[in-house]
Amino acid sequence: MSELNELYQQMILDHNRRPRNFRAIEAPSRVQEGYNPLCGDRLTLYVTLDGDIVADVAFQGSGCAISKASASLMTEALKGKRVDEARALFDRFHRMITTPPDQPVEDLGKLSVLAGVREFPTRVKCASLAWHTMKTAVADETAGPVTTE
Ligand code: ZN
Repeated sequence: MSELNELYQQMILDHNRRPRNFRAIEAPSRVQEGYNPLCGDRLTLYVTLDGDIVADVAFQGSGCAISKASASLMTEALKGKRVDEARALFDRFHRMITTPPDQPVEDLGKLSVLAGVREFPTRVKCASLAWHTMKTAVADETAGPVTTE
C-alpha cells in the first residue's frame, strides 16, 4: 500500500509541476473564479461548451500542489464529456474524497490518486475546489465567485 501511495504522490507532484490544460481559453462559453480561503488556493476555470458537450476546459491560478493537481486531473477527465456526465463525475469524486478513510471507495481511475486526501480533512477543500468551480461554471444560472467556505 505504501508503494501505491508513493506512486500516487508522484502523480500529484507531476501534475503540480506540469499542470495539464493550464492556460486561458479565448472567448470561452463560461468563466468561473474559485477560491479556497482556508489554504489560499485560487483558480480561474474556462469552459467551452459545444451544445451539452465539454469541448474544452482549462484553468489558471495559484495554489498548493493538491489543488493544482486536482484541477489538472479534472480537466483531463472532463474533456469530451457531456455536462450531465461532468456533474455525475463531480458527485462521484466528491463522495470519494469525503468517505471515511477506513471505508472502501469507488475506483475513479486516475482521479483515485486524490483519494488519500480523505485522511486530511483540510485538504479535501483543496482537492474539491476545481470541481466546485466546474459545477458552478456549467450550471444554467450565472453565479458569483465560488469559495469553499
Ligand atoms: Zn490548498
